[in-house]
Amino acid sequence: MLMRKYIVGNWKMNGTSRDLPEIAAIADMAAHYPTVDSALCLPASLISRVTAQILDYPIGGQDCHGHVSGAHTGCISGEMLVDAGAKLTLVGHSERRSAQHESDADIRAKAIAAHKAGLKVIVCVGETLDERDAGRALDIVLGQLAQSLPDDMSGDWLSIAYEPVWAIGTGRIPDETDVSEMHGAIRSQLMARFGPTGAAIHILYGGSMNGENAAMLLAIPNVDGGLIGGASLGASKFEPIIAAA
Ligand code: PEP
Repeated sequence: MLMRKYIVGNWKMNGTSRDLPEIAAIADMAAHYPTVDSALCLPASLISRVTAQILDYPIGGQDCHGHVSGAHTGCISGEMLVDAGAKLTLVGHSERRSAQHESDADIRAKAIAAHKAGLKVIVCVGETLDERDAGRALDIVLGQLAQSLPDDMSGDWLSIAYEPVWAIGTGRIPDETDVSEMHGAIRSQLMARFGPTGAAIHILYGGSMNGENAAMLLAIPNVDGGLIGGASLGASKFEPIIAAA
């Protein structure tokens, strides 16, 4: 299925009010590429500042709690993200799976809660280098996918980001054939579980995507977009990726 490419920036724990002009520059730049969907996932502290000023560009969170409210110090709920003006959120980024010990069940609960709150959701999956070297990459990723996804879902609100952990922030990317094999396997699992709905779900690639490798990565079958960390931190770095899409 031919889909519009979806290019999402993840600013991680970067950005303060000093960066508001750069975020506005990214939204302006993206408006020059009307055939590409893009968005920025910002630190929670910036979301309401940005959405108060930039009305027509989707801003997202980077995580959301699996509960609506309660005694969860330091966490943010889907409703709070929506209240701040967010339209989407990441869940299950590998930095949270490892540093915050989030399980597939946690991530599934977060995806359900975010969707209930009215957000689009990007569920992240990916193998470590040890797992790839041991020949277990497909098993690990397909296992994460099976356990992290809610049962009722559609391409209208859910996307998957395949992010090999060893490619994030390292400048290394997998071979074209490995990306193709993984994205094909993810698509097959989505279709086996959800039927034709599975064909309409964006599968993003993430991990050291930049202006130099984006065209190659985005041309691989079943690579429907990208999740971009470092290269989304400024309009001049982000633009070549959106242009390549
Ligand atoms: C990410 O954090 O999701 C990511 C893909 O980072 P980078 O592009 O910097 O590798």
